[in-house]
Amino acid sequence: MSAIDDLPPLRTVIADHGLVAKKSMGQNFLLDLNLTAKIARQAGDLSACDVLEIGPGPGGLTRGLLAEGARHVVAVEKDARCLPALAQIADAYPGRLTVLHGDALSVDPAAHLEPPVRIVSNLPYNVGTELLVRWLTPPDWPPFWQSLTLMFQREVAQRIVARPGGKAYGRLAVLAQWRSDPRIAMDLPPEAFTPQPKVHSAVVHLAATEPRFPADPAVLQQVTAMAFNQRRKMLRAALRGLRPDIEARLDRAGIAPTRRAEELSIAEFCALAREVADD
Ligand code: SAM
Repeated sequence: MSAIDDLPPLRTVIADHGLVAKKSMGQNFLLDLNLTAKIARQAGDLSACDVLEIGPGPGGLTRGLLAEGARHVVAVEKDARCLPALAQIADAYPGRLTVLHGDALSVDPAAHLEPPVRIVSNLPYNVGTELLVRWLTPPDWPPFWQSLTLMFQREVAQRIVARPGGKAYGRLAVLAQWRSDPRIAMDLPPEAFTPQPKVHSAVVHLAATEPRFPADPAVLQQVTAMAFNQRRKMLRAALRGLRPDIEARLDRAGIAPTRRAEELSIAEFCALAREVADD
């Protein structure tokens, strides 16, 4: 019997439901319920929040979230093999777990969520970055979520919190730090997962804030994507395809056209996005 609820241990759940991990689904499971409760706690007090979880799998983190008192968890899982195990958890926590079967890139969970919403997930590696960028760049702000507490490969986590001037600094850092406060909350070694991945992982916590500088999110995304795609080039060359008069626009933003993407602060990227958006 596990320490945090009356459900069977996760190893038993996995054996009973034949949940052999599939690489194609990015499946690396957390089986230690003390650890999943600790991850859930990184999201703060959840007793007055709905939680969106992407990829609950056999439900280790889901159980952590519920045991830590989340008001309601909405979990989106693509692998149908996990549904019976998740149904068992829903039975143990009546009315507090809604499982949506489908691909997180196409399922819209909005109808099932009541604000305030926090997102907590051990993300599948293959879609994690794409989901993060979507959550960070909705057309309207504040977003539907208050905070994101997300597991990534450590290298991706470092890119999210990176400061200008290094190799890790790129589009993810600019988008994340423009209107949220990201920090690395926990480091996890490969042994924390079954099966063990090759790389270390980290939990990143991002709390939504007011935008630090005005900018259009779609334009900022486009500018950062182009600038960092050719990060070794000077900005006037990397951004040539964006606007024919990019040098003049860089000048007006107060940025020397000979500088490179990784030297620019978030304030400078936002100034550039405003100049690029200007007709
Ligand atoms: N949360 C579980 C845990 O911590 O043990 C499982 C995490 S595992 C890294 C990722 C989970 O995401 C798997 O259960 C996998 O089936 C699911 N998944 C993969 N791609 C998905 C997608 N596009 N949409 C929803 N779930 C997905």
